[in-house]
Amino acid sequence: MPKTRVEAVTNRIYTRVFVCMKCNAKIRADARKVKIGKVKCRKCYSKQLRPKSKERKI
Ligand SMILES: [Zn+2]
Repeated sequence: MPKTRVEAVTNRIYTRVFVCMKCNAKIRADARKVKIGKVKCRKCYSKQLRPKSKERKI
């Protein structure tokens, strides 16, 4: 399988999942919306989200 294709697929999956830095809740959202501050944690309403890119599980 071409390497570029694998990267494209993983990017699509992992850029859409974020983790709240306060309560560790998982939030599925668009990366662009997170960047412009439109996405909040649904538990604690924090805007401090980090991309869940280090873990392998979806
Ligand atoms: Zn939270």
